[in-house]
Amino acid sequence: MSKKTSLSLLTFDNRFVEGLPADNETDNHRRQVLSACYSFVNPTVVAAPKLVAFSSEVAELLNLSDEDCQSENFTQVFAGNQLLADMRPHAQCYGGHQFGNWAGQLGDGRAINLGEVVNQQGNHYVLQLKGSGATPYSRTADGLAVLRSSVREFLCSEAMFHLGVPTTRALSLVTTGEQVVRDMFYDGRAKPEPGAIVCRVAPSFLRFGSYEIHSARGDIDTLRQLVDFTITTEFPHLGTPSVDVYLEWFAEVCERTADMIVHWMRVGFVHGVMNTDNMSILGLTIDYGPYGWLEDYDPNWTPNTTDASGRRYRFGNQAQIAQWNLFQLANAIYPLIEDAAPLRKILNDYAELYDQKWQTMRAKKLGLNDYNAATDHSLNKELHEVLQLVETDMTTFYRNLADIDCEDIQLSDKELLAPLMDAYYAPEALSTEDKTRTCNWLRLYQQRVAEDGTSNVIRRQKMNEINPKYVLRNYMAQLAIDKAELGDFSLVNELLALLRQPYAEQADMAHFAVKRPDWARDRAGCSMLSCSS
Ligand code: AMP
Ligand code: MG
Repeated sequence: MSKKTSLSLLTFDNRFVEGLPADNETDNHRRQVLSACYSFVNPTVVAAPKLVAFSSEVAELLNLSDEDCQSENFTQVFAGNQLLADMRPHAQCYGGHQFGNWAGQLGDGRAINLGEVVNQQGNHYVLQLKGSGATPYSRTADGLAVLRSSVREFLCSEAMFHLGVPTTRALSLVTTGEQVVRDMFYDGRAKPEPGAIVCRVAPSFLRFGSYEIHSARGDIDTLRQLVDFTITTEFPHLGTPSVDVYLEWFAEVCERTADMIVHWMRVGFVHGVMNTDNMSILGLTIDYGPYGWLEDYDPNWTPNTTDASGRRYRFGNQAQIAQWNLFQLANAIYPLIEDAAPLRKILNDYAELYDQKWQTMRAKKLGLNDYNAATDHSLNKELHEVLQLVETDMTTFYRNLADIDCEDIQLSDKELLAPLMDAYYAPEALSTEDKTRTCNWLRLYQQRVAEDGTSNVIRRQKMNEINPKYVLRNYMAQLAIDKAELGDFSLVNELLALLRQPYAEQADMAHFAVKRPDWARDRAGCSMLSCSS
């Protein structure tokens, strides 16, 4: 007999399904869903679910204990085999612009929202299974997910949270005991892989594409209902919906998006598929697919092989793409406003706002008190060049920059540069000229820090709170996947623990704070990823 858990005490109020129009059809077959925001659909039962990992912090948000998460009941529920009373499983309807083109209806093709929990503090959390079977939105695909991509999503979303990046969360990761066939590189070499399901958690999973779909269909009534619902539930501080409130709402979405991108740029995160269906209306990082972490500082890098030719979603392009996506959202809500000028102004302000926020963040990454336009524009610009002289690990560089002695201006070039040597993939590639240029920058940096009057100790402390020591390097996730595919989940859990404290020294884990090992340079999953998941 399974032990009694607090799962049965979860309170669901299901605001989304209570407040918005449902698809009349309840049969689970692929279709276009009109005049509705979602379709009711149950998760598919799986053969032999097994718990791989859970996040204690997310469980706590739901007022669940570790013990609850370790129960058989928990595994069954979050594998989709069992529904709790008051759950109202449904898949959402949305569209999206994919790689710059309108793609029509997409929707939750392999995500099922189980229900919306109100916790004891009154906060709302939607529980969403990813990979639990086909829905009316599955189009030609199977609605399933493989272990490889599920480990990546589970670990990365929690890592991002602990880094201080706005993100959806992950409660649990289970394997299904079933095989899922995937052609990882779309080259005809399909093979079976272990199936898995992640339970994602967020106040809402609404995307830009959730609004675009109704607008594209000229269904302004449903569009208005959805926007009003979003404002009342997620942006209540804006007040009763009206044209002015719609504009304030759009401005806030722009600002939250700008904040999210600034954080991505701070930690070296490349989303990889910034289609408008992957842009959260709450400004959360959502849909962890072929994302990657910048190792060598290369603004043109993208982890996504599907995007290798155009590099639309490369690291250095993310702020502009976010603006392009916001422009699509503006187009979508235009029928509620019928005046392009204020929308255009907000979009222009986004560019300025982003710049400001990013400059401030760059100053903080350098341990400066604030961004000083007079000196720091050129300081940042030259750093951007210096980082690209030779292959330089971004995370190690910033972390070790905190160890540069800024109080001693008499240091030789060699002494000055010493703390940074670990950041270079091939230190011998650094020519005398490169070294001189880097040291020149470091001396400018020393001067700039001196202007602030910040001591080494204080600066180091400030920088180490913002420049992580540990990120989920692409190869680390792959090592955890390799083991997990053999049924050993230890490294998934070890990395989850490590990434809880990305800014702490954790000396015994220092082997994960080094630049990518050579074997991982060209290995699939470590440097290149496709959308296959
Ligand atoms: P993505 O680019 O991964 O965010 O997915 C784009 C769209 O494809 C979304 O509507 C997903 O729900 C859908 N999709 C992705 N993978 C699958 C799958 N295996 N089965 C059904 N739908 C999927
Ligand atoms: Mg998606």
